[in-house]
Amino acid sequence: MPATETIHIPAREGRGVSVRAGDRVRVIDPAGGQVADVFAFCIEDPSEYHSAEHTRVFVGHLFPRVGQQFVTNRRRPILTLEADDSPGVHDMLCAACDPTRYQGLGVEGWHASCQENLRDAMRRLGIDRVEVPQPINLFMNIPIGADAELGWLPAPTGPGDSTTLLAELDCYVVVSACPQDLVQINAGAPGPIDIELTRA
Ligand SMILES: [Zn+2]
Repeated sequence: MPATETIHIPAREGRGVSVRAGDRVRVIDPAGGQVADVFAFCIEDPSEYHSAEHTRVFVGHLFPRVGQQFVTNRRRPILTLEADDSPGVHDMLCAACDPTRYQGLGVEGWHASCQENLRDAMRRLGIDRVEVPQPINLFMNIPIGADAELGWLPAPTGPGDSTTLLAELDCYVVVSACPQDLVQINAGAPGPIDIELTRA
């Protein structure tokens, strides 16, 4: 019987897990209204990682549909979007939040960011230097207007909504509970994220 473990990510923090091909990562928004930034790096060579721009070419959409795959910067499938038990609103256009983003929004001093959460999580997995790729921004609501203008709306998820990713390669999966509280993507109040990890 597959073993399942749940990893709780407190609001504004990130966590990374090491998974094998065939393992499942269910990303859960326990309270609703929260964006989860997801990154995936190959264990055998972390310079190969999930690449949004390569995935968009691979699937011919801005974001994969259920059953479609996310690919690496070497165009190899790394994750499959296996199930989506959420409103199905996700983004793969917006960079991870970082210190410069918060400075630009008027923050003085330190502010948690998805970039720092990624680097901290990878350091805990033993990887000191990583690229910060375009994330898979689960539950992030960035509507594109007729003139291609981007909107910044609260995540439409309700409590317990989730998206399930199936690993196609042995990889590190990092999830950040986005700490953005100046733009309304998390309804102004960043919350936690849970990861349910099911080993094959
Ligand atoms: Zn963020």
